[in-house]
Amino acid sequence: MSLSPDFAFTQGSLQDFADCARRFELRFIRRMRYPALETQEPLQFEKRMRQGARFHKLVQQHLLGVPAEALAASLKDDAELSGWWQNYLAQGLSGLPAQRFSEITLQTQLCGRRLVAKYDLLALEAGGVAIIVDWKTGARVPAQSSLRGRMQTIVYRYVLAQAGAHLYGGESIPPERIRMDYVYVAQGAERLSFAYSAAQMGEDEALLSEMITAIERAESFPLTDDERRCRFCSYRSLCDRGGAGRLEDFDLDEYEDEDEDEAFMLDFDQIAEIEF
Ligand code: SF4
Repeated sequence: MSLSPDFAFTQGSLQDFADCARRFELRFIRRMRYPALETQEPLQFEKRMRQGARFHKLVQQHLLGVPAEALAASLKDDAELSGWWQNYLAQGLSGLPAQRFSEITLQTQLCGRRLVAKYDLLALEAGGVAIIVDWKTGARVPAQSSLRGRMQTIVYRYVLAQAGAHLYGGESIPPERIRMDYVYVAQGAERLSFAYSAAQMGEDEALLSEMITAIERAESFPLTDDERRCRFCSYRSLCDRGGAGRLEDFDLDEYEDEDEDEAFMLDFDQIAEIEF
């Protein structure tokens, strides 16, 4: 089996391949559902997923013009979510250009495939900075070094540089004007920022091309050697890789991020970055 001709790559699918080639195969080529529990605390896990999704919806409504007070009134049943909301209102949008695009999808072509990115927020200043904002609701702020290498950081900046011209007055956005901010609303809206450059864009393009080519040419998709990556993977029983991990062992970030994948399963994209 191979990828369908219309398959579009996303940061989520590429992260799966980076983490475990077999996971990529099962999910995107064989398109298998394998409903193992991601954690030992499924109800709490689901609650956190719903909170994250609800927070993103609130922000989207706010950026579309719904008054903050009206949205806050809907949060009386959830003190934790209300706290995230207050942190967002206090710091989430500070310093961002006024031209804002919420929940916007951009795509470009690479190696004959579409490469798609769905952004929580793009804040642009004509002829000035272009800031990607990604809201995180996880309980931990990861190390900057680990986030730098995530496919989300790589793909989001690259796609904006390649495909953001129509949002930027018709001209390509110089990489040096692009910045990506992860904003941790459960941590007082702490912000981790990643600048961009032409040199970094060249490196990213080489890496992405290499990954896409490797996937297209792969004759086998081996299981990861790093069994820590299996702890929260739905395919554990299929791969004979043990039981579910504990919820407290991983962040729930990126839970709510990803519905840009065209695949029918969203579980892995919604699973948080795991700090190994
Ligand atoms: S259980 Fe482990 S080896 Fe199997 S697909 Fe998941 S991450 Fe890969």
